[in-house]
Amino acid sequence: MDCIFCKIAKKEIPSGKVYEDDLIYAFNDINPQAPVHVLIIPKMHIISANEINDSNKDIIAHIFKVIPQLAKELGVAESGYRVVTNCGEDGGQSVSHLHFHLLGKRNLSWPPG
Ligand code: AMP
Repeated sequence: MDCIFCKIAKKEIPSGKVYEDDLIYAFNDINPQAPVHVLIIPKMHIISANEINDSNKDIIAHIFKVIPQLAKELGVAESGYRVVTNCGEDGGQSVSHLHFHLLGKRNLSWPPG
């Protein structure tokens, strides 16, 4: 499958690895929108939030269990951070492999653009 994030998870394409376990992989965004901008992905190819279901929900729960640990390691647990997933065209999703952006170390505006 020609998916850039699958290739990153399999180390076929280099990335700035931040975290890895059997189920998930986290790496620095190539075009950071904040001093901390990490992408957290399931190793399994899931297209978007639309495809979260009973068969893969444990992986999503696992991602959200790891996020506080990553936030601590990245030094944003106290200062605060944002976790966001973009879904589909209106959501601004540009890579069709589910990913969660973890952004921090700057004041993030709300509402987003
Ligand atoms: P989204 O627009 O929500 O689909 O986010 C996709 C993100 O992937 C963007 O923030 C890109 O900068 C990032 N991205 C694309 N290719 C790479 C890559 N090879 N390594 C790291 N981040 C990437």
